[in-house]
Amino acid sequence: MIYNIFLTRKCNLCCEYCGSCRFPTNLPHEITYSLDRLKEFIEKDNDATIAFYGGEPTLRIHLIEKIIDNIRAKTFIIQTNGTRLNKIPKNYLEKISIILVSIDGSQEITDLNRGKGTFNRVINNLQDIRPHFKGELIARMTLSESSDVYRDVRWLLYSKNPKFDGVHWQINFMFDDLEKWNNIHSWIQKYNSDINKLINEWVLNMREHRVQRIYPFMAIMQSLLLNQTTKLRCGAGWIYHTIDTNGNILACPITGELSSFWIGNINKINDPEILRDALLIKNEPCISCDVFDICGGRCLFANYFKPWGDEGYNIICTTIKNLINKLIEKKDEVSNLIASGIINIKDFDYFKYSGVEIIP
Ligand code: SF4
Ligand code: SF4
Ligand code: SF4
Repeated sequence: MIYNIFLTRKCNLCCEYCGSCRFPTNLPHEITYSLDRLKEFIEKDNDATIAFYGGEPTLRIHLIEKIIDNIRAKTFIIQTNGTRLNKIPKNYLEKISIILVSIDGSQEITDLNRGKGTFNRVINNLQDIRPHFKGELIARMTLSESSDVYRDVRWLLYSKNPKFDGVHWQINFMFDDLEKWNNIHSWIQKYNSDINKLINEWVLNMREHRVQRIYPFMAIMQSLLLNQTTKLRCGAGWIYHTIDTNGNILACPITGELSSFWIGNINKINDPEILRDALLIKNEPCISCDVFDICGGRCLFANYFKPWGDEGYNIICTTIKNLINKLIEKKDEVSNLIASGIINIKDFDYFKYSGVEIIP
């Protein structure tokens, strides 16, 4: 299973869409449980992956070092805003398999969302580490009303220095106030048509033996090609567990204050196996949705909490259904490219539940 650890709740940025700096929390800023306890807990799982999370995890590099040195895990991942990546010593960076770095596209959109100067700091750090970071570097975008998915995804996809191995985005739907959107309907209309355009180009690229690692496309297409159904694709509640600073185990990382999402506490549970499948998508509209098996439900938090009500939920699902239907439309063409040896089914492989939610 994946253990996503809040190394601190502090962050050195205050992004437009992030509640953590605008609504100060009563949760402890720093870890209050012992690392010995964390070790004892995680090492009971022979298939453990540790993800460093926050706040901003690179504010606590000494903890990253201690955990890598002392706790047995198959894989280490970090989800970071990238502003301090250059501070991680090389010998620790080498032990990290996946870096998920927050960047929204070009300088204009990234600085608009994350503060002036952020883009250059992040890009400089990535240019610094890229020559000796051999793992997968994933650009993790947040899309807001100012974003243009076609322009911004392509900017990251074709960036040469640094080169990203993969791109993922999540739309700021239901994590923030609906009222912040001026015209969500026209934004969605353009988004859907841009997604169709991006998928067309993605498949055209395959004819040149290239399967670009555009996560929402790659993961859904893999399921279609293998005829596989899925549970919630971010893994929250069933395989991706977040350990909060106070030791609480959260079904989803944004639910530190919501007791109904607490599925345990590392000071109280001995065997992490009991966390498996702790909290599943059980509510409408997902459970009766005709694409539930392939979507998996977009978000556990949203499924239980419905922050934008039923109507808001339905509005955003139009984007998911468009994405899935467009990929279904392309399935035969992609299958033919595999059958003729131009691309390989393995090109769609990816490390699951790394922190990439798949359904934007
Ligand atoms: S970098 Fe992440 S945690 Fe920090 S303010 Fe931005 S979104 Fe929030
Ligand atoms: S498309 Fe919407 S309703 Fe359907 S499964 Fe996905 S999130 Fe749930
Ligand atoms: S997509 Fe998954 S990880 Fe993200 S907020 Fe929703 S449930 Fe939590």
